[in-house]
Amino acid sequence: MSVAKWETVIGLEVHVQIKTASKLFCRCPNKFGGEPNTRICPVCSGMPGALPSLNSRAVALAVRTGLALGCRINLHSVFSRKSYFYPDLPGGFQTSQLEPPICETGRFVLNTRNMPGAHRQNPEIRINRIHMEDDAGKCIHATDSASLVDLNRAGTPLVEIVTEPDFRSPAEAAEFMRQLRQLLLYLDITDGNMEEGSMRCDVNISLRPFHEGGGGKFGVRSEVKNLNSFASIQEAAEYEEERQRDALESGQALEQETRHFDPDSGSTWAMRSKEGAPDYRYFPNPDLPPVVFTQSFVDEIAAALPERQEARFKRYTGELGLHAEEAGILVGSAALAGYFEAALALQPSPKRTAGLILGNFLPECSRREVEPAALMADHFPPARLAHTVAMLEQGKVSLRVLQDLFRELLDGTDEIETLAEKRGLLQVSDSSALEKAVLDAIAANPDEAAQYRGGKTKLLSFFVGQVMRVTKGAGNPALINELLKKHLER
Ligand SMILES: [Zn+2]
Repeated sequence: MSVAKWETVIGLEVHVQIKTASKLFCRCPNKFGGEPNTRICPVCSGMPGALPSLNSRAVALAVRTGLALGCRINLHSVFSRKSYFYPDLPGGFQTSQLEPPICETGRFVLNTRNMPGAHRQNPEIRINRIHMEDDAGKCIHATDSASLVDLNRAGTPLVEIVTEPDFRSPAEAAEFMRQLRQLLLYLDITDGNMEEGSMRCDVNISLRPFHEGGGGKFGVRSEVKNLNSFASIQEAAEYEEERQRDALESGQALEQETRHFDPDSGSTWAMRSKEGAPDYRYFPNPDLPPVVFTQSFVDEIAAALPERQEARFKRYTGELGLHAEEAGILVGSAALAGYFEAALALQPSPKRTAGLILGNFLPECSRREVEPAALMADHFPPARLAHTVAMLEQGKVSLRVLQDLFRELLDGTDEIETLAEKRGLLQVSDSSALEKAVLDAIAANPDEAAQYRGGKTKLLSFFVGQVMRVTKGAGNPALINELLKKHLER
């Protein structure tokens, strides 16, 4: 084993599709998929003479990304043309930023808590730069003799986050991608859908002789392009680690090159020798003025950044008493956590509020295939959520009735107690009414009652079910339990 002989050095370039309504330089919708070539216009399909105009929402999201990663924000940056030829790039150039980019010099502390066996604790990863650019279209290799081009994706806004070569293992690189995705999802910057290519990355990797304490000249690096899963980042980097080590140890010279990863075989192959910036003939895009904004634009975005995810999680599991699992889902998105807190400001029950969001609201969003944000705004704002929680807390409606009426609640304007009342399902907390149902249930099932009294106390739930059926789920379960015990045990 030559474990200590070589040190692995990895840097990442992460491409992130950001959540804007329209594309970077035109008004075409920024949406995944669709019938090929239906979301295009002269600008994003690269027609000569079509003039781009910059999407200000994309600029704001790039600044938000930079602030979240502790970057310096440049109040003046420039779009350049990066020229290369590929069939899915109809203009013959990508519009990107070389110098200066919109953000520079940030940092990200990689949390190694979930990395058993990590050989460094919480290393700091420096961010070199973040720039904006537009995505290319897609080639569809339809048959052996024909390829088709779909330009729906062309012009999709991206931020590219470039790290310094600060990772020392494939596992650190993959873990960074996981944590970066969490952060960007939390801040609602991307949908984070890796299968659809919303986040993908290029891995730059080289080896150098190991020195105690690190340091030394970098080795010859290879760049593995377009990895779109955590597993493929780690596997590709591990494969390269081994390939380069074998070459170095057998005295072969390595070449700086671009490689492709094949997930089926777990190996990489050389695509071409690596281009340097001069090969792309970058020059400022003559159709776009420099991107210029004021410090107060940046300050406004900074002021709107939510509380840090970790701090929020601690607060939810600590003072609010939520389970780690519940808190984890709520703080997965700043919008969802904000929704929870807005409802909590109107009534005092964190457990019930979380329970209603996780048990009723989110499942209904998935069933309807809509973003929670849409239902939160239009159908079930924090005030209605808070009111529904209060009705449960006061025992006016039971959880089961809420379950049954929840869809109707979302779609209409009647509040839950009105809906329940119309169906005679207001929770019965009146003990004389429930007592009759309890006595009837015991009288109707003498065998079970005898068995219960003989020690088979599990039958209590059978009786609860009987009473619930008679009261159509509207009986207060705690009270039913109490009454049943009282009458069965005497
Ligand atoms: Zn367009």
